[in-house]
Amino acid sequence: MPDQTRNEQETDSFKPYKGRFQSYPELPEKGRGKEDILNELSLMAEEENAKWTTGKVSGTFYHAGDAHREYLNKTFSLFSHVNTLQFDLCPSMFKMESEIISMTAKMLNCDAVKAHNPADEVCGTMTSGGSESIMMAIKTYRDWAKAEKGIDAPEIIMPNTAHPAFDKSGTYFGINMVHIPVSEPDFRVDPEAVSAKINKNTIALVGSAGNYPYGLIDPIDALSDIALHHKIGLHVDGCLGGFILPWFEKLGRNIPTFDFRLPGVTSISADTHKYGFALKGTSVVLYRNNDLRRHQYFSVPDWPGGMYASPTGAGSRSGGLTAATWASMLYLGKEGYLETARALMGVADAMIKGVESIPELLLIGDPTFVVTFRSEEVDVFHVNDFMKTRGWRFNCLQLPPAMHFCVTMPQTFVPGIADEWTKDLREGVAYARTKAGTVADTTAIYGVAGSLEGNQAVTEMVYGVFDHLFSV
Ligand SMILES: *Cc1c(COP(=O)(O)O)cnc(C)c1O
Repeated sequence: MPDQTRNEQETDSFKPYKGRFQSYPELPEKGRGKEDILNELSLMAEEENAKWTTGKVSGTFYHAGDAHREYLNKTFSLFSHVNTLQFDLCPSMFKMESEIISMTAKMLNCDAVKAHNPADEVCGTMTSGGSESIMMAIKTYRDWAKAEKGIDAPEIIMPNTAHPAFDKSGTYFGINMVHIPVSEPDFRVDPEAVSAKINKNTIALVGSAGNYPYGLIDPIDALSDIALHHKIGLHVDGCLGGFILPWFEKLGRNIPTFDFRLPGVTSISADTHKYGFALKGTSVVLYRNNDLRRHQYFSVPDWPGGMYASPTGAGSRSGGLTAATWASMLYLGKEGYLETARALMGVADAMIKGVESIPELLLIGDPTFVVTFRSEEVDVFHVNDFMKTRGWRFNCLQLPPAMHFCVTMPQTFVPGIADEWTKDLREGVAYARTKAGTVADTTAIYGVAGSLEGNQAVTEMVYGVFDHLFSV
């Protein structure tokens, strides 16, 4: 278990620039030269970029190449100073946002809603990211259920693999989030277990496409039937998969339907700042109809500062992000997204084959772009210890211990990356065998949570890390 008093070495690893660059606990008396500042920033950026341009870092950098990034930065700079809320001064913002929302909705088969109810029409808003999209959807269901059904003690049922942004929303908005554990062999939520938890306070269900831990797509079709039957909402979290799974499907992959083709799906979140290849700080939340979206909006009509209204949780947002998102989608087009998905799929499939060739490793579920495995023969956290020495950065999973690698574009830029992956993994497994019976370094952090005391200890530790990171 990690000690609550961090040792010096650990402390230093969080603050690599301490002593190397000057610290600024307060504003400098006189401003520093631009050149000087730019040089220092470039140094930090270059060193940090070197860590993931190897292609050995899971997820994190949803980045479609240097040329694409430069192009986005140009489009950003044209509107970096603009506030998206100022629709009177900057009508470009709502032109772009309405088109981003519409393009995303089409990609997720919004036209299908008419077949179920001709009055429905998919709509949405742009937000600052996946967490905000999720928070907005959860708030929307709360306010909808209060207005339409008089529910005062709302509950939402979610798989325990759904993103923590749902729990955050539950905490922020006073909603009881009921967790359904997933388990082997399927690792997707069991619809019957969901059904069993429905009561008169249930306002909505949650499913993921795909979920963060395993990249797996919950049985959204079954959840859709349940939601329709009980006349409750169903939010599909497509933050991660929303901009990639539709293209995998077009490439012939068997992707279970998760979008507006299912009549019970009432909202979807999809992150432009992940596989939309836009800049960080953007996402889209979609609703099946405008009656729902209305519950997301907010206004203070009689504020002394003027009538105030905002569609999302954020107030001001940078128009640069809106412009860059729009520009990313227009530049790539259907063809561009299809081609990036094809490249990603090629690498992911080769990585999946690599795992399959190692008998000690067990794939979790039927992977698409997230490759997840566990083991019953070696401690996968020993494998992670070894992979770290080879420059790989996995995401470690717990309960049960497993590891995942989320394939993004940086992997596709490194020829032979999947061969290296397989070779290193094989050596990692051999290393883990020699370490049997010992505690992996990785276990020092993972492997504590799961009990009340363990959870408290982990929370105390990570809050301590935040405190430390926020110190100059
Ligand atoms: C990334 C992600 C989110 C949202 O995260 P943000 O960091 O707020 O964009 C939600 N769900 C899943 C499955 C994700 O992978």
